[in-house]
Amino acid sequence: MPKGVVKTKADEHKWEKAKGIAEEAGQKDNYAYIMGIYKRMKPDYEFKTGAAIGPYVDSIINGMTVTQVNTNNRRSGARLKGKGLLVKWGLDAPEGSSVRTKYLPKWVKWAERQLAKKTERVEQKKEWTRTTVDGYSVYDLEGKEQVAAILSKIQRDVKPLLREFGLTYQTIKESVAEGSLGFNRGRRIIALSVRQKRDMMKLRKYSAIMSTMIHELAHLRHMNHGPAFKAFDAELKASARRQGIYSPGRSAQRVAAAWLRRVAEKD
Ligand SMILES: [Zn+2]
Repeated sequence: MPKGVVKTKADEHKWEKAKGIAEEAGQKDNYAYIMGIYKRMKPDYEFKTGAAIGPYVDSIINGMTVTQVNTNNRRSGARLKGKGLLVKWGLDAPEGSSVRTKYLPKWVKWAERQLAKKTERVEQKKEWTRTTVDGYSVYDLEGKEQVAAILSKIQRDVKPLLREFGLTYQTIKESVAEGSLGFNRGRRIIALSVRQKRDMMKLRKYSAIMSTMIHELAHLRHMNHGPAFKAFDAELKASARRQGIYSPGRSAQRVAAAWLRRVAEKD
């Protein structure tokens, strides 16, 4: 599955569907063919790649910054952009058409709701306190044992990589941002997001957490995201894949359960 374009569960579902259609057409192993079908299924793709035919125009609607641009896209679309809204008008909504006056207020309302939810999530997170489980700094929330188990399993799984590439860090802890490498008085601390952003009671996929972990390990050698960083990140991921440490699609819930069982058996 191409990681660059297949990111969410819904994407995965679409990718599987595209593979099915390709198979029926006798093009089971034709990657470009599958990708062609997949891209057509994904309105997001057009939204991101569609060329602008005109300037980006900012305006304030209900106190929100709304950026509008005309594009060659077949369909119009809107996305959040920071604390505002980005609207890409397509061929379905020519300038001055009633389609625009119909959609724009709807999208502004939608953005307001999304931003309110986002603010609520941020406020909620401020109230959480930390605790220590099995030596790991985690949030004092339901499921903290699973989170600590995942951190412990991640630590063990990356050991061969650390040895192979001569990398060291001091600690690993739970974070709410995706991941970061912090330096605290020379200590290298990796902060890793284990829970899903939108539903903190669910864990991210183990492979996604591992991918973030490897990204942070790559930062031990390169601070920015330049070509050297990208090459090293890819090298680490290739090695992790070869060693069976990193295989896409693994559920963290299941990994945590198995890991906790193993630890219990040892005691
Ligand atoms: Zn980074």
